[in-house]
Amino acid sequence: MQFTSLNLSGPLLEALESAGYHTPTPIQQQAIPTILQHHDVLACAQTGTGKTAAFSLPIIEQLLTSKTDTGFQGPKALVLAPTRELAIQIDENIAVYVSRTRIKHAVIFGGVSAVSQIAMLRKRPDILVATPGRLLDLLNQKVLSLQQVRFLVLDEADRMLDMGFIKDIRTIIGKIPEKRQTMLFSATMPSEIENLANAILNNPQRIAV
Ligand code: AMP
Repeated sequence: MQFTSLNLSGPLLEALESAGYHTPTPIQQQAIPTILQHHDVLACAQTGTGKTAAFSLPIIEQLLTSKTDTGFQGPKALVLAPTRELAIQIDENIAVYVSRTRIKHAVIFGGVSAVSQIAMLRKRPDILVATPGRLLDLLNQKVLSLQQVRFLVLDEADRMLDMGFIKDIRTIIGKIPEKRQTMLFSATMPSEIENLANAILNNPQRIAV
């Protein structure tokens, strides 16, 4: 299978070609069509399987083709990740995928001053990658709103659980409209993750690689 058979727009295919991607990985082959069909997803996948592109590409595709844009009031897609390193890595991948589009992205994480991150949020990113603690801080400071979020990704959900972020995550999700598409990625599926999935996913398609 090639990326060209996955119903992605020209600017995405061009970005993938210049990044040297030719064949979608197994998780991409399963997740991209499922997400493009607007299903919620519960995916069991490890790092290195290509999971970042598996959720990013169909979200970007839907942002490119959506006609329901009512003007900016906040990010339309939110990706939650457990660590600064992972958040930066996801944002770097998204930068490659949106390079031929006008879609804007930003990343926020704790452990550093929030000043430059707040400045980035003022540039109106469409896609926001965040660690839960810093996001909650900035939400409490009313620096941003999640009222426009239509796509929500929880990446490495089991690690976020291990790091004690589940309460923060539930608080954050409470600030996102229920009318959204939600994708949960986790390397393992302990019962706490199944419980979280039951609470936040709507009739999810299960994917395992
Ligand atoms: P991830 O599992 O999302 O962390 O991706 C692992 C690495 O594989 C990253 O460096 C990606 O840029 C790369 N990658 C993801 N999908 C593909 C693909 N279909 N072809 C080639 N490289 C890929």
